[in-house]
Amino acid sequence: MAQVQFQHVYKTYDDGTQALVDFDLQVQDGEFMVLVGSSGCGKSTALRLLAGLETLTAGNILIDDDDINDKPPQQRNIAMVFQNYALYPHMTVRQNLAFPLKMMKRGRADTERRVQQAAALLELTALLERKPGQLSGGQRQRVAMGRAIVREPRVFLMDEPLSNLDARLRVSIRADIAGLQKKMGTTTLYVTHDQVEAMTLGERVAVMNEGRLQQLGAPQDLYEKPANTFVAGFIGNPGMNLFSAQLAKVDNRIQVMLGDYKITVSDTNVVAPDTLASCTGQDLIVGLRPESFIPGSGDDDTLPARISSVETLGHEQLIYFTAPWSGGKTLVARQGSLQHIAHHEVLLKPDTSQLYFFTAEGVAIY
Ligand code: ADP
Repeated sequence: MAQVQFQHVYKTYDDGTQALVDFDLQVQDGEFMVLVGSSGCGKSTALRLLAGLETLTAGNILIDDDDINDKPPQQRNIAMVFQNYALYPHMTVRQNLAFPLKMMKRGRADTERRVQQAAALLELTALLERKPGQLSGGQRQRVAMGRAIVREPRVFLMDEPLSNLDARLRVSIRADIAGLQKKMGTTTLYVTHDQVEAMTLGERVAVMNEGRLQQLGAPQDLYEKPANTFVAGFIGNPGMNLFSAQLAKVDNRIQVMLGDYKITVSDTNVVAPDTLASCTGQDLIVGLRPESFIPGSGDDDTLPARISSVETLGHEQLIYFTAPWSGGKTLVARQGSLQHIAHHEVLLKPDTSQLYFFTAEGVAIY
């Protein structure tokens, strides 16, 4: 059990690539922390620095109160599960699980106890005498997890451990990992580029972009209160629609001016009217989640849209559209599957209690 702290960590590779910039993160004892961001944003670098596989350029990494910067990897007591889980093909599951303990020179009884415990936890007991070639992809992934578990590490690091599995298996193993981590209570850092995985697994999620931490929070908080346009667009499937606008105060109500169109912000909007009133006349970015467009009739707060494509997903449809007020951008609305869309030109009614506002630089206004 351990608390992990990244303090103002910088990592610049020899070729000048800045993989982490002033990265600050505190992972609580026993917490399941997910690092999420697009490929190349520095997630794996953060894990590799913690594991001691890379050296940091500046800053500190602490486990509990120990500064581990100068400790070799084997003294950090951290176990890492990678996406390419290399099991030894000629060894049985039992031998694969016991292998890290053999390297650590653990005694026979202790090894046996830990292997049995991990096998029970991962429901591998019946498979202990099989070789990896006789296992399914999901079972092999569980053995790889087992090899990390037997070491009884202070911290688990998981780098996209599910990305080689098919979609259905990913969902079931995702649930297994979450359950397992809860049972063991071992501090875990989990890296993924998949925001759905991040949202379903993380107690807290750290969203990263270009080596910088964008926002840290519980999944629902990231969704409901994104700190900037990057997080708003990244979290959610699809992410938030973002378009340029200005605000005006008319008859004591706040209006969003969208070229020739305008909509009136609801008094119950997520951002308070007084806050918005202080932003009138500025160039802003307005955000609206796909589910916050409802089909409209011809009343005031409807906006025209030209549908470019519709994706039917069974329980819902995603309607991609362009509009004279979207600045040439394609936006997306989410609708129930039963609503029949007969025309290319439709009216959409934004839910004006769910409008988000960002500065022109992309910082959220609350
Ligand atoms: P992620 O895990 O988010 O995909 P990484 O941490 O692997 O991102 O990489 C962050 C950035 O650092 C990327 O631009 C990547 O190309 C670069 N990078 C990673 N490893 C090295 C290396 N050994 N040498 C140079 N650049 C690297």
